[in-house]
Amino acid sequence: MDCADAPNPPAPPICPQCRLVSDRHPTYYGAYVLLEPGLTAPAHMVPAWHRWYVDADGTAWNSGRDEPTPGAECRVPHRLACPGLTLEEVGLWRWLDAVRWENARRAQRQADEEAFLGRLPDVG
Ligand SMILES: [Zn+2]
Repeated sequence: MDCADAPNPPAPPICPQCRLVSDRHPTYYGAYVLLEPGLTAPAHMVPAWHRWYVDADGTAWNSGRDEPTPGAECRVPHRLACPGLTLEEVGLWRWLDAVRWENARRAQRQADEEAFLGRLPDVG
């Protein structure tokens, strides 16, 4: 429910759906979460259970259904911005569309580059 389903180290912090690299943080209960890199949002604009905060030691925690304090900002799980997933609830949060669109473009470019490199003759 809180999207803390990232691959554990030493696996790379790559989204299994779109293969983009995200910010992986440990949680206080042993799971890992992928947070959208560089994205901080006003907490009241983020759906309950998707508001993440990162403590000074890098451990991430989810505020669950608690209402954010006025002016609070939070991190957003990559899953909400992932172009490889369609979440019905995400449709309610239009401001994320631009982030997902940009990620879709990046994921496509990355896939194109991988396909191109895969076609190159092995000159090693
Ligand atoms: Zn993704």
